[in-house]
Amino acid sequence: MSDNNIEVIETNGPEETYALGEKMGRACRPGQVYTLIGDLGVGKTVFTQGLAAGLGIREPVNSPTFTILQVYEEGRLPFYHFDVYRIGDVSEMDEIGYEDCFYGQGVSLIEWANLVPEILPEHYIRITIEKDLQKGFDYRRISVEER
Ligand code: ADP
Ligand code: MG
Repeated sequence: MSDNNIEVIETNGPEETYALGEKMGRACRPGQVYTLIGDLGVGKTVFTQGLAAGLGIREPVNSPTFTILQVYEEGRLPFYHFDVYRIGDVSEMDEIGYEDCFYGQGVSLIEWANLVPEILPEHYIRITIEKDLQKGFDYRRISVEER
């Protein structure tokens, strides 16, 4: 598998990570799948909120504690926001009907996608967010990789 097309962006506050998401949201195409990987509190939901705004979604986007999938229909494309942090077994994704999302005409984004590697599609955009406390509390290193 090739590892071309890795882009690294550094941000120094939540508004910059939001703005990156917003820019990517404006460029989203039907059927795209984004995976978001990074520790608790690193900024996955901040990025997701920006991406949703870029899709034209105005209602608030959060990570609901006990809901794996939230669907937003009001934007330019349907937006399927998964947060699988609390998933017990990958079969829960089947029950939710993830395939209709991943292989449909909307945009899917999966927070904690590293917990469900077996169901990721062949092509997706992998976003990894990391802290580096030596560079400051609000510093984030965000890598965007097309796979
Ligand atoms: P996650 O979804 O990864 O658990 P959240 O997006 O809910 O994390 O929370 C990220 C927290 O980190 C927020 O409180 C946000 O204000 C803060 N933060 C500080 N700096 C940044 C940054 N550069 N990018 C994103 N979030 C940041
Ligand atoms: Mg989150």
